[in-house]
Amino acid sequence: MEILLPQKAAFIIDTLQQAGHEAYAVGGCIRDSILGRQPEDWDITTSAKPDEVKRLFPKTIDTGIQHGTVTVLVEREGFEVTTYRVDGKYEDFRHPKEVTFTPDLIEDLKRRDFTMNAMAYNRKDGLVDAFGGVSDLNAGIVRCVGCAKQRFQEDALRMMRAVRFAAQLGFSIDGETKAAVKELSGTLVHISAERIQAELTKLLVSAHPEQMRTLYELGITGVMLPEFDRMMRAAQDNPHHCYTVGGHTIAALMHTPNDKILRLAVLLHDVAKPACRSRGEDGRDHFHGHPQLGGKMAGQILRRLKYDNDTISKVCRLVQWHDDNPPLLEKSVRRAVVRAGQEAYPAIFAVKRADILAQSAYKRLEKLEYLKGYEALYQRILEKRQCLTLKELAVNGSDLIAMGLKPGPKMGQVLKELLEVVLEEPGQNQKDILLSKAAEILSF
Ligand code: ATP
Ligand code: MG
Repeated sequence: MEILLPQKAAFIIDTLQQAGHEAYAVGGCIRDSILGRQPEDWDITTSAKPDEVKRLFPKTIDTGIQHGTVTVLVEREGFEVTTYRVDGKYEDFRHPKEVTFTPDLIEDLKRRDFTMNAMAYNRKDGLVDAFGGVSDLNAGIVRCVGCAKQRFQEDALRMMRAVRFAAQLGFSIDGETKAAVKELSGTLVHISAERIQAELTKLLVSAHPEQMRTLYELGITGVMLPEFDRMMRAAQDNPHHCYTVGGHTIAALMHTPNDKILRLAVLLHDVAKPACRSRGEDGRDHFHGHPQLGGKMAGQILRRLKYDNDTISKVCRLVQWHDDNPPLLEKSVRRAVVRAGQEAYPAIFAVKRADILAQSAYKRLEKLEYLKGYEALYQRILEKRQCLTLKELAVNGSDLIAMGLKPGPKMGQVLKELLEVVLEEPGQNQKDILLSKAAEILSF
């Protein structure tokens, strides 16, 4: 098997070898190269100790020197070069107590999580595949290196990584590996929110977000997203739906563009449905208020998972307004845009489309037709550059002050009323018209 190393990675490996050390490209880059995917970064593993690596290259950074990792800079591009190591005894399902360097490449490969991530390559020795990585790649299987149970006891995050790789690559998970996850999923409680968040995001933006179902079946969401388990168990007995809330959510994810904000919003759009379910007089399930409560719950969940504030506010906004369906009139759409905030557009349309496509066939064409009309009106409003915010009003605070109004709450109120006028009739957004309206409002 031949793998095309980038020049700079090859240069680092050659330099280490010429100094009498062993060196290989290793891990994800080898996996991705064999699969014909573009590797994200090229990690290098070497028998050289960190101080020896530092002596060979003029520009290095001590990235994780206590774990043997040095970043080597080649023309400002960084490559992580890590000394062969074995991880010492693991404590509490996450940290090796100490790491020890080893002269043996195979020992280093053994500590890696999955067979497909445990291969190394250089031009001198070709591919080193001691654990059947190529055969598992060919068969499309995620399999632990060694005893799965033991590997998950060392680091519980590997359980989520197994499902994430299955989602990214369209693979299945080996039986023994899967059984071990099922048995040990509870130990994920020892893993930090940050590490869990990173894996959840990678799974969601992958080619197979439907693998959320595997997270559920193996007991992983039960630990890191119990709200999702409630969704999976919540039936929705009404003509619009043919799945449970969770089943609908998974189907909707499959219809959502591959984007972090959109996929998170769709994941959580119905999160409050289990809490909002009521049986109507028609004998059907209703979910009054679920978008509003959903926005709140989404905020709590995303904060718990330590997402950044920008992500949280974007996702919550989409969850809160995903079910807002204004009449198809320009003025009603303008009001809807003001309600949700312009930041929610056009993303909200992708969420709504995914939602519709994951519902029953009942009235689907009408729903899609409506959505098309909604989008077209929104586009027209944009093209005409109609005023949607206080900032875009033809008058501002100083104009009102010039009229003799003092700054204060009254002034805010007047501006809001003027915005109402303009939302109703955009033609009114002219300075003289609005000033006389303001005078009218003030004379009452
Ligand atoms: P990606 O960059 O897409 O997340 P990757 O395979 O490169 O995929 P990294 O987290 O960058 O994953 O790690 C690089 C390599 O380090 C992996 O290929 C694997 O060999 C090893 N590795 C990473 N995390 C773990 C872990 N938790 N347990 C064991 N080995 C791991
Ligand atoms: Mg990587």
